[in-house]
Amino acid sequence: MRKVINCECGEVVRGNSDEEIVAAVREHLTRDHPELLEKLSTEDILGMAEEEE
Ligand SMILES: [Zn+2]
Repeated sequence: MRKVINCECGEVVRGNSDEEIVAAVREHLTRDHPELLEKLSTEDILGMAEEEE
């Protein structure tokens, strides 16, 4: 199941599994929003993700 997160900055992050999207979001946060990295748990990230056809 592909998942997608539309970040508030306009970046679209995609992954092919829960693990992939969490890793991709953490990478994006590390690069662009390091202050959010510690605040968002894996559950938070998955809660933001939407399933994509
Ligand atoms: Zn962002």
